[in-house]
Amino acid sequence: MKCKYCGEEYSENVIRLHENRCNEKEVGVDEDADSSNSDIELVNADDYSVKELKQICRDEDLSGYSRKNQDELVEMINDHRRSDV
Ligand SMILES: [Zn+2]
Repeated sequence: MKCKYCGEEYSENVIRLHENRCNEKEVGVDEDADSSNSDIELVNADDYSVKELKQICRDEDLSGYSRKNQDELVEMINDHRRSDV
């Protein structure tokens, strides 16, 4: 018997199985099902003062931010946002 999708010859007991697979292949399985995490809004040190960054930490329930400098705060917030999703 011939597969109606690819035209290959198969025996009767496997043709149906093969045609199912062949059919799926033709249709194409959607493989890039959202690689996620691309929509996270990260903070940038240029856009916020230390005071604002600490306010963000407070808003996002982070702790241990009080003695951090600007870069550390940015990193902390961004780490949190990346792991939050
Ligand atoms: Zn086929």
